[in-house]
Amino acid sequence: MASVELLIGSRWQAAKGDGQTREVTSPFDGSTAGTVALAGTDDVETALVEAEHGAAIWRRTPAHERMRILLRAAELADERAPKIAQTISAESGKTITEATGEASRSGDLIRLATFEGTQLYGETLPLDANRGTGQDKVGFTLRQPCGIVVAITPFNYPALLVLHKLAPALAAGNAVILKPATSTPLTALALAECFVDAGLPDGVLSVLVGSGSVLGDALVTDPRVRKISFTGSTATGEHISRVAGVKKLSLELGASCPVVVLPDADIEAAASAVAAGGYVNAGQVCISVQRVITHPAVTGDFLDALVPKVRNIRTGDPSSPDTTMGALITAEEAERVERAIARAGADGARVLIGGERDGAVVQPAVVADVDPQSPFSQQELFGPAVAVSSADDWESAIAQANGTAYGLGAGIFTSDIAGAVQAIREIDAGSVHINWTPLWRADLMPYGGLKGSGYGKEGPRAAVSEMTEVKTIVLHGRPW
Ligand code: NAP
Repeated sequence: MASVELLIGSRWQAAKGDGQTREVTSPFDGSTAGTVALAGTDDVETALVEAEHGAAIWRRTPAHERMRILLRAAELADERAPKIAQTISAESGKTITEATGEASRSGDLIRLATFEGTQLYGETLPLDANRGTGQDKVGFTLRQPCGIVVAITPFNYPALLVLHKLAPALAAGNAVILKPATSTPLTALALAECFVDAGLPDGVLSVLVGSGSVLGDALVTDPRVRKISFTGSTATGEHISRVAGVKKLSLELGASCPVVVLPDADIEAAASAVAAGGYVNAGQVCISVQRVITHPAVTGDFLDALVPKVRNIRTGDPSSPDTTMGALITAEEAERVERAIARAGADGARVLIGGERDGAVVQPAVVADVDPQSPFSQQELFGPAVAVSSADDWESAIAQANGTAYGLGAGIFTSDIAGAVQAIREIDAGSVHINWTPLWRADLMPYGGLKGSGYGKEGPRAAVSEMTEVKTIVLHGRPW
């Protein structure tokens, strides 16, 4: 791949427009990670025409042949994982250790999706159970690809979030047009290259790098697109849902994830889990721990256990294996997070540690006595800070956990099975973790939010289901 070409219709091509390029830089030190060609609306049209052609070829390709190509792509993703990890770290500012973990999941994720693409079962319909219908008819369902899938992804997991869309969409037999985040396009292109090098037919895969609002609007409003799979902020997701028209839509959006720590919890274990779950990827994770709700009887012990662990987080050069927390995606984002922490302090909360900024790096923060109704709790922070509030009893703790517009993930620490079972039922979140924080994901599990966190599920089985359509077929043995 020449670094300044677009991938359109599974082929590397020059952009149609005025040949604009963009230098992708490290948020940590501004060093150049690579250069990409920027697509314009002409390229959107070319990609859509190619995708129509590709979708027609790919849906007629037998599942075993699709599997052969995708398994080769998985092998290539495994072989190229160390290089892809360097790219992730260079363009996103996450530590090389985290980036290596992310890249190393690529091959297995493609394999899981590939398997699901071979499992497009239907069902037989007992039509004769319907009064007036006899045994002269046979009914069954057939699962088929949607056609053209538009995948739009954010910056924070530039490999995993791309693959959670590309792999199931391709496995199910769709053509895909991917619009990755403008800040992290190199990883998306490197992964797409694995599929192309594995032998994906012409037309099936395009990657368009460029302005979210221009390319995004052109893609999501086009009637040739049948399915949109979007991961990003709630504001962008709301916009897409307004303009998309009649299409299948999956929205993986923002969050403010809670963890409840009850008096019977293992406080040390809870503090260790929060010291990881609040600060992975500098807090830029949709399932990051943003709020901790403790019983007053254990708040002091919890904070005493948490603060030294957070103090041990080492910020610095993301490419160094000694660094345990990297940079935010831009200095502007870091400034926004710095301001939010300072404002929480000014509004009466206690900033126990952290919050200082240097460029795009914000020191990991613990903020105690946070008002659960304040912006620091209610609005998604997407940065390395945890807000700790208290709740006097089980009911008010659960009400606080549920008390934001979001509902993506939640955790509860308790040794009481009855309370845990009740929490499983009462907490309004797409995933609920008992004795762990929401920052945990196995790639095969259904994954997606409730309320303002979106709708639809990812995870290979769920995504293949959402990226296919069910047809009902009735075979009439007699013509009445
Ligand atoms: P974002 O600003 O919403 O951007 C996400 C993607 O949408 C980018 O590719 C962006 O392109 C594109 N976009 C922007 N405007 C668009 C439009 N009008 N139409 C179509 N696409 C458009 O989100 P972000 O800041 O990159 O990511 C952080 C957010 O993602 C957080 O809210 C986080 O919680 C959420 N997230 C959710 C999950 C989940 O599973 N629920 C997972 C990860 C992240 P540009 O880059 O060119 O602007």
